[in-house]
Amino acid sequence: MYSVTNLIDGEAVASQSGRESAIFNPATGEQIGTLGLSSDAEINQAVACAKAAFPAWAATPPAKRARIMFAYAALVRERADDIAREISREHGKTHDDALGEVARAMEVIEYACAAPELLKGEFSRNVGPGIDTQSERQPLGVVAGITPFNFPAMVPMWMFPMAIVCGNTFILKPSERDPSAATFVCQLLMEAGLPKGVLNVVHGDKSAVDCLLDHPDVKAVSFVGSTPIAKYVYRRGTDSAKRVQALGGAKNHMIVMPDADMDQAADALMGAGYGSAGERCMAVSVAVPIGEDTADKLVNALKPKVEALKIGPSTDETAEMGPVITAEAKDRISGLIDSGVAQGADLVVDGRGFSLQGYEQGYFLGGSLFDKVSPEMDIYKTEIFGPVLSILEPQSFESAVKLINEHEYGNGTAIFTRNGDAARKFSSAIEVGMVGVNVPIPVPVAFHSFGGWKRSSFGSHGIYGPEAVHFYTRLKTTTTRWPEGIPQGAVFTFPS
Ligand code: NAD
Repeated sequence: MYSVTNLIDGEAVASQSGRESAIFNPATGEQIGTLGLSSDAEINQAVACAKAAFPAWAATPPAKRARIMFAYAALVRERADDIAREISREHGKTHDDALGEVARAMEVIEYACAAPELLKGEFSRNVGPGIDTQSERQPLGVVAGITPFNFPAMVPMWMFPMAIVCGNTFILKPSERDPSAATFVCQLLMEAGLPKGVLNVVHGDKSAVDCLLDHPDVKAVSFVGSTPIAKYVYRRGTDSAKRVQALGGAKNHMIVMPDADMDQAADALMGAGYGSAGERCMAVSVAVPIGEDTADKLVNALKPKVEALKIGPSTDETAEMGPVITAEAKDRISGLIDSGVAQGADLVVDGRGFSLQGYEQGYFLGGSLFDKVSPEMDIYKTEIFGPVLSILEPQSFESAVKLINEHEYGNGTAIFTRNGDAARKFSSAIEVGMVGVNVPIPVPVAFHSFGGWKRSSFGSHGIYGPEAVHFYTRLKTTTTRWPEGIPQGAVFTFPS
């Protein structure tokens, strides 16, 4: 049994709050660790350290900050296997999937290495007689990040490399369910040469989040998690005049057109629906067949594949998906499957009774597949966040677009087709932030930005990429004139 510590001012420090939460191995159901839940005093201390570190860090040349990111990229590459093991031990995802998470996080670090270019300002000579104007982007100060369980390393790394390279200091509050990977990747950045206090990790639950949201010295908050909490964080953070970006939940649809290659579409749905046990904000949870014939072909192609899913612990190299995160999550997902049956959907493959020999206490579920799902059902309206794929009752292209546009979430979506006209119409009309054409999980690369629409995101900035530079900096524009150009006497009209 291990205990996970905070990281404050460069030191690993155990919380003295006396409050703890348990960390479980989702594959076995055993408690493997404990996590001290920080008190307000401990959070305040971390913010004070970050505040003290800010002036020197903000004054550090961007090229020097970037050099630390180059060293960090090398360390993360070297330790990728160790990071993946930290992720899988507490999250349960397969080792290869965890390595994929590290690879996508690496892209953000590599992008952050371009800080001197990204922070380059603008200059205009002679905007008026003898007058020049320059615009620059300055850091905000202390910034906080609050992250979910499902990408325990990548989502924190969507945030802190960009915030830090822009000249801010950072406080990370990882998910309390799988806090080790986040702590480890932050320790690696300290090893890469980051000065003390620039990056701090505080563990905790709602009270830690509230303390950060109310703290007057925290200037901005990046949040990723479920929609109800995202909305709450956005409200409470903006109430205390912070800049807030809060990314929420999702229900991602994939349209399958009659002309699509049905094997390719079914394979794409398998990976996007059941990879990471469906616990991805970009997981496809709804397949939308266009026409009866497409629906029949799709269910026939999917059924044997779902039945054949290889499920196992992260240490099983042949496993395609692992357990879900907690016993509560398993019960919640099973309850939603019950509701789908009760509300009349056709449960083609039932994953509820699944048990893995030797891992009977683990939080495993088999893959479930519903057919003939209608938009009124709870399994359609709710983010299930588990290995459950729903095939909607057949639609026309127009009714499919309308349904997706009317759904409360708008994170990701995809269309599988050979028809360029349909794909173009879809990507233009669809009210969703990230769109794939024959790409089931269209997570943007690090030099574009990530962000959903509607109730999948609160605030006006996407995460990482160019949007992150805007979120983590504020614009300053300086207009300059030297004595030779100053006119004689007072001028009372508006300068023009
Ligand atoms: P969650 O909302 O339960 O927790 C996220 C964070 O909020 C955690 O750090 C947690 O400690 C904190 N938190 C929880 N309850 C709180 C409360 N009442 N007050 C203040 N803070 C609170 O989310 P989760 O279960 O860890 O993650 C899964 C969710 O995250 C899913 O809905 C998924 O779609 C979403 N997600 C979204 C994206 C995206 O980019 N849009 C990415 C990953 C995950």
